[in-house]
Amino acid sequence: MSEHRYADRVRSVEMSGIRKLFDAGGPDAINLGIGQPDFDTPDHIKMAAIAAIREGKTGYTPNAGIPELRQAISEKFARENNIAYRPEQVLVTAGGSEALHLAMEALVDPGDRVLVTDPGFVSYAALATIAGGRPESVGLDATLHIDVERAKEQMDGARVFVLNTPANPTGAVESEESIRALVEYANDRGVTVISDEVYEHFIYEKKHVSAARFGEDVITVNATSKTYAMTGWRVGYLAAPEDYIPEFLKIHQYAQACATSISQYAAVAAYTGDQSAVAQMREEYRARRDLLYAGLTGLGLTFPRPEGAFYMFVPMGEALTAKAVENGIIIVPGGAFGSRAPEYARFSYAAPRETLSRAVGRLRRLME
Ligand code: PLP
Repeated sequence: MSEHRYADRVRSVEMSGIRKLFDAGGPDAINLGIGQPDFDTPDHIKMAAIAAIREGKTGYTPNAGIPELRQAISEKFARENNIAYRPEQVLVTAGGSEALHLAMEALVDPGDRVLVTDPGFVSYAALATIAGGRPESVGLDATLHIDVERAKEQMDGARVFVLNTPANPTGAVESEESIRALVEYANDRGVTVISDEVYEHFIYEKKHVSAARFGEDVITVNATSKTYAMTGWRVGYLAAPEDYIPEFLKIHQYAQACATSISQYAAVAAYTGDQSAVAQMREEYRARRDLLYAGLTGLGLTFPRPEGAFYMFVPMGEALTAKAVENGIIIVPGGAFGSRAPEYARFSYAAPRETLSRAVGRLRRLME
């Protein structure tokens, strides 16, 4: 194979440890590795996309997104999050992933410190590095929540703090008190907060609180992907103080032009239509969480019950994790999410209850 030259900032980034698992395991594998809903996209959303195709709405859209969708997202923020973002403050992207990318590229200069939780969602540190920044780990406490006092100590001189609640991979939901303290402290010190809220609807006891309620310099990232089981449609967005939008748009217009036209019409139906599917998915995730938690704690594994998203982060040791994967229980080793939790493994419970029961049964046999 010939050796080509690549930019250092790209070479230093590792392939996602989760993508590697996409094809893992034989025919008998139980896949709890992938973080995507196993539900189908609700029918009324699909029908809106089909109508858009039939009506020929298949060309480029305005770079920032179709006006109906920016309006629908603005109304969603008022209704669900108690935040007044005008449509002009919303930029529609190709999934939450592109929104995170735009925010990092627009904000981070070479060498800038970007604070990310460790363990945390795989993209944050990678995107910070691709933007030329230096990701810096923020630790979690024993309950897998952000250690607010320690995080504050790292804020001085940092450029960005990434907040993710409910969190991937831990399933932790931060309290209003913690969110307020982190955002106020960050903004006071000139640190911009990127708040990734893609799992906001999958919370089982507490309530979701949006970071933008507590500070002016907050960029809210969200997507249709998890909420409406639309990962493949690729619609996300960021919302921010208005002067940010043209800067994000500079990158978006050259790199992406616009999010998929058809998907944007589907997203309008998602935000303006019947929301009952979201509640149904939440209740099913709750039942699965309870089932998997009872199963794993029944095996003698002890850890706090996760409060949100559809992940369980389990301190089961590297040896048992490796043995589980070898025996077709596909879970993600904690090392994929940073450097501080190699002894954990992430189970995704976006899988049928029967699959979760089989995974617990197989794990029980491996532990005997
Ligand atoms: N943020 C978090 C915390 C995620 O877990 C994911 C996907 O797994 C994303 C963002 C990206 O979502 P999207 O599929 O909309 O790009």
